[in-house]
Amino acid sequence: MFSLPNDIEHVYSPLGRCLYCDATDVLGKEHVLAKSLGGRKIVPRASCAKCGTMTSEFERTVARTMLGPMRMYFDIDSRRRDERPEKLPLKVKLRANGDWSYIDVDRKLYPFLILFPLLNMPGELAGRSADKDQTAKCASFWIRAASFELGIHEHTEMLAQSLKVAAIMPEGRAEVDAFARMLAKVGHSFATAELEGKNFRPATINVIRNANARNALQFVGGSPHSEPTGSTLHDIDFVYVRHDPTLVLVHIRLFAVLGTPTYLVAAGRCDDPEFVGRSSPPADAPITGTQRVS
Ligand SMILES: [Zn+2]
Repeated sequence: MFSLPNDIEHVYSPLGRCLYCDATDVLGKEHVLAKSLGGRKIVPRASCAKCGTMTSEFERTVARTMLGPMRMYFDIDSRRRDERPEKLPLKVKLRANGDWSYIDVDRKLYPFLILFPLLNMPGELAGRSADKDQTAKCASFWIRAASFELGIHEHTEMLAQSLKVAAIMPEGRAEVDAFARMLAKVGHSFATAELEGKNFRPATINVIRNANARNALQFVGGSPHSEPTGSTLHDIDFVYVRHDPTLVLVHIRLFAVLGTPTYLVAAGRCDDPEFVGRSSPPADAPITGTQRVS
């Protein structure tokens, strides 16, 4: 079975308050990126029960609906293997000139598409004002076809023959709203844990807490630079903006090892001298990629 690398576990100091509502009693640990996606950064005592339920709701949408087949494909978070459906609905044409319909096929044979939304730079970074309607809409996607064996074309041909259907259309789903909220949560929890005690002022809590956050793309977006395939499963760190040194910008690349798009979260502001001091890259350096500090 093909497998992905695991990231190294990192446990921060306990936070002692909820990341999302500042409650201080009965706190559970919070994963910066959900465990179900292979996240290994943990903030102890950082999430109340109510907010834990809220974040796990959109994380579940991303992990199951959007990246479910991919998690099965790469066997991510295999502790919950028993909960996985045995069969998945596959779009097929039973006859060459017929309509598309669905049949259930064994998940081990299921060909699928991996979709990641391609987002513009966050408004905070691009200098856009926040009052425009910026619901997390997305017109284009990074798409990869995947199958559990062979190439995707050989696989769908072989599968069409064995299922006795005329054609197969691999599908994928992107839940852009849930995905944007999840990115905001990753950026927020990472920045809060990393900058604890440094007067970090978060900006994305409303995006995380509000399912209809109309200004999500003011804080969550993508990078115009495409990056080479990464060597780690996920890549989460700060990037620094020379002309705006107090902006806390978190660079997030989920499944970097697959060559996925880069996301940026304008998580808030911090004018701690140590943080601002790190944001003086060489002149003409690009916004991302060359000035990262892990
Ligand atoms: Zn809370």
